Amino acid sequence: MKFVGAHVSTSGGIFNAPLNAINIKAKAFALFTKNQRRWNAKPLAENDIKAFKDNLKKAKINVDHVLPHDSYLINLGHPEKEKRRKSIEAFIDEVKRCHQLGLKYLNFHPGSHLRQMTEEECLKVIAESLNETIERTEEVILVIENTAGQGSNVGYRFEHIAKLIELVEDKTRIGVCLDTCHLFAAGYDIRTETAYLKTMEEFDSIVGFEYLKGMHLNDAKSTLGSRIDRHHSIGKGNIGLEAFRLIMNDPRLDNIPLILETIDPSIWAEEIKLLYSLVEQP
Ligand SMILES: [Zn+2]
Ligand SMILES: [Zn+2]
Repeated sequence: MKFVGAHVSTSGGIFNAPLNAINIKAKAFALFTKNQRRWNAKPLAENDIKAFKDNLKKAKINVDHVLPHDSYLINLGHPEKEKRRKSIEAFIDEVKRCHQLGLKYLNFHPGSHLRQMTEEECLKVIAESLNETIERTEEVILVIENTAGQGSNVGYRFEHIAKLIELVEDKTRIGVCLDTCHLFAAGYDIRTETAYLKTMEEFDSIVGFEYLKGMHLNDAKSTLGSRIDRHHSIGKGNIGLEAFRLIMNDPRLDNIPLILETIDPSIWAEEIKLLYSLVEQP
C-alpha cells in the first residue's frame, strides 16, 4: 500500500500538521519541527507535544509515515570547525525534538564543502557529525536525502550516500530518502520504464532498498543532469507523469512516506488524488 502526503504547514502550532494532512486526504506528511530558516527555537511545550500526538491519532497517521525535515541552515559538512559545531548542535536539538514528538525519522541534506575541501573529505566530516549525533541522541533514524548537486552540495551520487552509510557506525540509525526532482537534476533518468528500472537497480546495488525510508515526489522545472534544484507540480515538469505511475506501482515503495514538495500547495489534494489514480489494480 502507498502512503502519499505532502510537506504540510505547522503555522499556528506544530499540532496543526496532522490536521493539515487530513484536510488534503494525505496518508503521510512531512513537517519542520521548528522555523527552518532560524537557528534557535523555544523548546517544545508539553501541551503542544500532547496535542500533536492526539491529532496524529485523530488523523489515523502512523509515525512510520511522518518524515520531519531539518532546517535549511544546517551544514553537517561545513569546512569551518566553529560553523560546523553550530550545525551539529542545531541538528542534535532537532533530533531531540523529533524524539519528544514520538517520531521515528529526521530527514536531512548531507551538506556542502563550499569549495574549501574535496567531496571525499566533506563526506568524511559529515559522517563524523552523524556519528556524534547518534551517540548523543536516542532512537531517531537519520534519513539522508539525495541532492540535486546544486552549488557545492554533496549527496547527488548514490556513491556519496553509500559512503556515508559505510562510515556511520550504528547502521540501525541511518536511512535514505530519494527526491525525484533531485534524482533527475543529478542525472538519474526515471522518465521511462527502462530508465526508471535502471536507476532503481543502480540505487539497490549501490545503496540498497533496505535503507529507503521515504521519498519526495516532485516533478522538475530543471532538466536532466542540470544540477539545478527547481521543483514543479506532478506531471507539469520535465519528468512527467509516467515516472510517478511507475513509482505508484513499484512494490518496493510500499509502506514508506511519499511526500509532495511541489510548488502549489493549493493543488496538493488534487495531486494526491491523481497519484492514487495511477495505481493499477492487479
Ligand atoms: Zn529536502
Ligand atoms: Zn529539491
